[in-house]
Amino acid sequence: MRLRFLVIGGGPAGHTAASTAAGLGADVTIIERDVLGGAAHLWDCVPSKAMIATGGELAALDRAEGMGLEATGRIDPAALRVRNLSIQTHLSDDVKQLLESQGVRILSGVGRLVSPNEAILAHDGIEERVTFDAALLSTGSCPRIPDWAAVDGDRILTTRQAYPPPVIPEHLVVIGSGVTGVEFAHMFRAFGSRVSLVVSRQHVLPSKDPEVAAVLEESFVSRGVELHKGARAEAIQRIENADFDGIEVQCADGRKVRGSHALLAIGSIPNSDGLGLAEAGITATEWGTVPVDHNCLSSAPNIYAAGDLAGKLPLSSVAAMQGRKIAEHAMGLHALAHRHLDYDKAASAIFTEPEIADVGLAEADAFAVGRKIRVTKVPFAGNAKALISGDARGFVKVISDPVTGVVLGGSIVGANAAELISVLAIAVTNGLRTQDIVESLLVHPSLAEAIVEACS
Ligand SMILES: Cc1cc2nc3c(=O)[nH]c(=O)nc-3n(C[C@H](O)[C@H](O)[C@H](O)COP(=O)(O)OP(=O)(O)OC[C@H]3O[C@@H](n4cnc5c(N)ncnc54)[C@H](O)[C@@H]3O)c2cc1C
Repeated sequence: MRLRFLVIGGGPAGHTAASTAAGLGADVTIIERDVLGGAAHLWDCVPSKAMIATGGELAALDRAEGMGLEATGRIDPAALRVRNLSIQTHLSDDVKQLLESQGVRILSGVGRLVSPNEAILAHDGIEERVTFDAALLSTGSCPRIPDWAAVDGDRILTTRQAYPPPVIPEHLVVIGSGVTGVEFAHMFRAFGSRVSLVVSRQHVLPSKDPEVAAVLEESFVSRGVELHKGARAEAIQRIENADFDGIEVQCADGRKVRGSHALLAIGSIPNSDGLGLAEAGITATEWGTVPVDHNCLSSAPNIYAAGDLAGKLPLSSVAAMQGRKIAEHAMGLHALAHRHLDYDKAASAIFTEPEIADVGLAEADAFAVGRKIRVTKVPFAGNAKALISGDARGFVKVISDPVTGVVLGGSIVGANAAELISVLAIAVTNGLRTQDIVESLLVHPSLAEAIVEACS
């Protein structure tokens, strides 16, 4: 009999698992309450990068003026929203068509477990029972809203209300300087907003290489982004009087930062409420994530969890890979050529100006555990393609084992860093040596030649 595989949540983890399992012969049902493609398409990766791309076009217009061209740009929030929606619809339709072509049963509505082998789909007051042999919970997460922030969707916003707001903020105060916070600070600065960034630590991007974070801070400062360092926000107030119409962020040390709008970028919480975890015998953490083993199995032997709900590494790429591995495991392929996911080898990028990307072992982490490493750094300033394209900022840093030459990690700051890091990601995942990269015949002129140089 075919394995009945149920997926609740159609984001990158869910739809990849559904497609892979169907391709391997399972009888697959997927329940999605919103759109296939998930929050990744609707709220997170796609609209944020679409708006950053628009900001990039505006910056290109500014540069065009420097080249003797007359150019003006004006942001149209309504047109931006239409563009976001059309990209999302295109991508979601592609997912839907693929799943339909594979015979996956797609159910619209809210799913919840009622036992270790049964779920309920609720849609427009109607309930349907779905039985399964194996299931995947991939319901994602949503923005964290602390009780000190009265989000109103008008002046005090979450990221989901900023794609874009009806009016581009005159002065946006971004609270949070992790990846999401710096991307939104960059995006709205590119749109012409005055931007203040409330940074709770002493530098932005606290989990990244300090050298990389320093480059971004320098760029922010040169573009007029105001950094409020060591400022932990503890309240946001809407103020509307004859002297001031806007918001005020109060920080623990007494500092007050005023602006026209505030944007919260202080993390996410997993969508596990009402999912029926206890009914299916699944243990959750006090924050609502579902702990999983190396095969992404929860504490129930036939129920997997993945993506943001599983709380391993909140990246779309990681969620999709988990989905693929889960489908293979559920179909018994793990006994064959199946590699477990190594989260330490996931590449990630920050779509700021300049772009930042990294993979694998970080220099600071190696020093912290006393591991001997070889670090080589090559600036783009000497790279032909960077000079030709007029943007030679940033560098490539490669971390390798001094004895074997195996590439352990690296970071790239500069134009197209998010694309270029793929070279190092492939090397890190597959245990390639610096020599293997040096001996690869790459295109000339290309930015990737800086990676070869850093490996030499
Ligand atoms: C602003 C922002 C930008 C980001 N940019 C990037 C990026 O550039 N690159 C990157 O790799 N990552 C990025 N991320 C992270 C990435 O979006 C998430 O890690 C990824 O979306 C997680 O995928 P997922 O499969 O867990 O679920 P999601 O994409 O969160 O999808 C979950 C789906 O489950 C559905 N669902 C929830 N509950 C139920 C239910 N009970 N029944 C039915 N359906 C349900 C939801 O409607 C949703 O469609 C970004 C995050 C944010 C906040």
